[in-house]
Amino acid sequence: MDQNIRFLRDNFSKELQAAKTCQDLENMRVRYLGKKGPVQELMKELKSATPEMRRDLGKEINDLKEELTKSLEDAAKTVADQELEVQLAAEVLDVSLPGRRYFAGRKHPVTETMDEILEILMEMGFSAQVGPDIDTDYYNFEALNFSADHPARDMQDTFYISPNVLLRTHTSNIQARVMEQHKPPIRIITPGKAYRNETITARSHVFFHQVEGLYIDKGVTFGDLLATLKELFCKLFHAEIQLRCRPSYFPFVEPGMEVDISCLNCEGHGCQLCKHSGWLEVAGAGLVHPEVLKNGDIDPEVYSGYAWGMGVERILMLKRGIKDIRLLTENDMRFLRQFSDV
Ligand SMILES: [Zn+2]
Repeated sequence: MDQNIRFLRDNFSKELQAAKTCQDLENMRVRYLGKKGPVQELMKELKSATPEMRRDLGKEINDLKEELTKSLEDAAKTVADQELEVQLAAEVLDVSLPGRRYFAGRKHPVTETMDEILEILMEMGFSAQVGPDIDTDYYNFEALNFSADHPARDMQDTFYISPNVLLRTHTSNIQARVMEQHKPPIRIITPGKAYRNETITARSHVFFHQVEGLYIDKGVTFGDLLATLKELFCKLFHAEIQLRCRPSYFPFVEPGMEVDISCLNCEGHGCQLCKHSGWLEVAGAGLVHPEVLKNGDIDPEVYSGYAWGMGVERILMLKRGIKDIRLLTENDMRFLRQFSDV
């Protein structure tokens, strides 16, 4: 047995010299000291030895076991140090590189523009009202005087969920609901999303944000509407802008108009932004149609009102010179981070 132990020790030390990685050493540990390893075999052989020999041999085997264990541990330490050195040498650390910058979260520019519009109008005495994005045909169209064959009801423009339920095409559904529930004076703004079944291009999207305004009381005039819009746009664009109204048709107002402001870029002289017209279209507006008032159970002989609607993305694009509306929904952080001072 002595010979066996010597032989084993020799083999072990040769293998130890050859071991290069921690994994090699772990393999050796399992092979030599594991349950089926040679050390365990020697223990088994011990049973057949005479009692006198057993004591000496037992001590010798235990010493061998300890010796192998310690050798493996020492070698493991050395190998781990070497591996670390190799790793450090391979990973060159450039301490002069700038650190990683962390950006704080902030509101989306569309939300900020919406907030800015609301703040101005709330200071002027309007209160914000919200309503459902999914609504019935009645609140989105019928209550607002859209005749059954109006082109805006066509499937081309509207996302229908069922023949009677749709994604609202404007936030005017909120106006219809408020008129039904409240008596004048009504002075509200309706921020929210609107949906149109249109091709997505640089200028239009299938969904966008709107703010509409509605004021109903005794003796409300066209002049009140113009004064309100002028103050709103002057404050919004931080400039002394001029308004221009062009007659237009919307079923829920009479008369209806498109509202333009003098170009922010060229002050009316003509440039690329205003397509050399000197004017920028910013809103649709008018006096509330008597039929719409009647649908809200408001007497058009006693009360009158004005309403307007504007796209938040449109305002933001004009304010910041953004040429493609799709950028606002792509969530590209490189684009969004440019608005940290909006
Ligand atoms: Zn211009």
